[in-house]
Amino acid sequence: MTKRYELNELIRSDNFIDGKWVVSAGGKRFDVTDPATGKVIAQVADSHAADARAATDAAARAFPAWRDTLPKDRAAVLHRWHALMVENADALGRLISLEQGKPFAEGRGEVMYGASYVAWFADEATRIYGDIIPQQQRGKRMSAIKEPIGIVAAITPWNFPLAMIARKIAPALAAGCTVVGKPAEDTPLTALALVMLAHEAGVPAGVLNLISASRDNAVPAVADWLADSRVRKITFTGSTPVGKYLARESAGTLKKLSLELGGNAPFIVFDDADVDAAVTGLLAAKFRNGGQTCVCPNRVYVQSGVYERFADLLTTRVAALKVAPATDPAAQIGPMINARAIDKIARHVDDAVSRGARVLTGGKRLPELGPTYYAPTVLADATPEMQLSCEETFGPVVPLFRFDDEAQAIHAANDTPFGLASYFYSQDVRRIDRVARQLEAGIVGINEGALASEAAPFGGVKESGYGREGSKYGLDDYLSIKYLCQGGLE
Ligand code: NAD
Repeated sequence: MTKRYELNELIRSDNFIDGKWVVSAGGKRFDVTDPATGKVIAQVADSHAADARAATDAAARAFPAWRDTLPKDRAAVLHRWHALMVENADALGRLISLEQGKPFAEGRGEVMYGASYVAWFADEATRIYGDIIPQQQRGKRMSAIKEPIGIVAAITPWNFPLAMIARKIAPALAAGCTVVGKPAEDTPLTALALVMLAHEAGVPAGVLNLISASRDNAVPAVADWLADSRVRKITFTGSTPVGKYLARESAGTLKKLSLELGGNAPFIVFDDADVDAAVTGLLAAKFRNGGQTCVCPNRVYVQSGVYERFADLLTTRVAALKVAPATDPAAQIGPMINARAIDKIARHVDDAVSRGARVLTGGKRLPELGPTYYAPTVLADATPEMQLSCEETFGPVVPLFRFDDEAQAIHAANDTPFGLASYFYSQDVRRIDRVARQLEAGIVGINEGALASEAAPFGGVKESGYGREGSKYGLDDYLSIKYLCQGGLE
């Protein structure tokens, strides 16, 4: 029987190093707040380089034994962790809502989504095959085996406080790596709760270590990992500028990197699309987590023939979305994560309007609900000069761009340094094949708005990063290939 916890039993405020909850070396703490109200939920460890170093020391001590466990034993631990996550999905979902602000149904959905990666990689642990290379010379046998890369440092963002860290820890542990991790400063509580459950599932001391840090102290703490040659890999999800910084700063010890970075996803609706389905797909893709997802459509290109109808249908459905605190069971969109986030959304909308965009619905803050709420917004007549065309808005704003022909839409969609997700709607099979091949993105949704799955490779191209999470490819990022050449056999 797996244990079910109450929400308050899952709240941990210290670092988890070498199987123990410990205060930070400097004894400092920082506040974690409810984004809806600004109320302090907990005060967690504000770690510095010394704490990062202690985590690495523990991970280094634990590595040889964990590397040598049988894959089926690592799989069993991960399956127990998965079971604990599922058993505690309600409490974890509420914790996500509390510190991140997404409605409870979405918070719970995120728990199940994150847990699905743990189950997936538990099974993948037992399928880490190598190769026997066909003989090239008499008396020599050549083979390739896969080995865990070593200590992995995992650094994650605030928008999916559970799923982002679960889909890094699970493959790392499955591969036989040990982990040091740091969740985002806005949302460390869910990650700490997850680590508590991992420990209960039987992850040995030192195999998984997590420290929290304020934004300022994250820099020296992570810098210690970047400079430490014992840390062999960085897996990061977050913004592109921080990803580039990590790549630069880890070059001194030539670490392997997986970078899941920002997007600026295009969503194209062709004249031959099923317009109702396109509106439904856009709502699913755009408004999950209030538009604060890296794969959410940021630029919506609609062909002239269906532009007005699409805009009308979309506006009606967006205007009906319920904005409310995560605790309201009817909530579809909660607060944005913080003041910086809502200021960026308002800046993007104001800039668009000043350059000629028309507000079809929304376009304003909702101070009656609180300082971090923004109305779901549809803007018509968007143009490439607007800020929201060039940068991720990361909020509930849909700008509609009009286009006339396919080549124009593809050029506009690809005219960005980013290449994470992209979407298009068309019912013409030849066009589907053409457009899918031409879009510069790691992920393409074709007549579909909900793309994420543990069985699929998730990741980007261009400045959206490299590496893939999930799928049969996901373990490769945590493994290195060793070539064995045995001679003297004849
Ligand atoms: P961010 O890059 O600001 O922060 C991400 C993490 O990096 C946090 O833990 C933060 O503390 C840490 N960090 C920031 N600066 C650092 C530094 N100088 N040294 C060490 N650590 C540092 O990103 P965010 O605002 O938390 O998240 C939003 C971004 O993440 C968006 O751009 C979004 O698209 C992206 N994202 C990408 C994916 C994906 O899979 N591609 C998924 C979710 C979010």
